[in-house]
Amino acid sequence: MAAARKSVKPMPAKCPTCEGTGEVSRTVHVGRKRRPVGQQTGLCLNCLGSGQATTD
Ligand SMILES: [Zn+2]
Repeated sequence: MAAARKSVKPMPAKCPTCEGTGEVSRTVHVGRKRRPVGQQTGLCLNCLGSGQATTD
């Protein structure tokens, strides 16, 4: 059998949450009315900053 092994590149899947950046921007709220004052960049909790989709 000619089971030629294809050269499959180990292409890391991008994390869908941060799109491969490892960071996500989240809106910051302040006050009792939770008024949005801006956005803050934080670690992506889906991939833990690696930017790659976890497969396990
Ligand atoms: Zn991520």
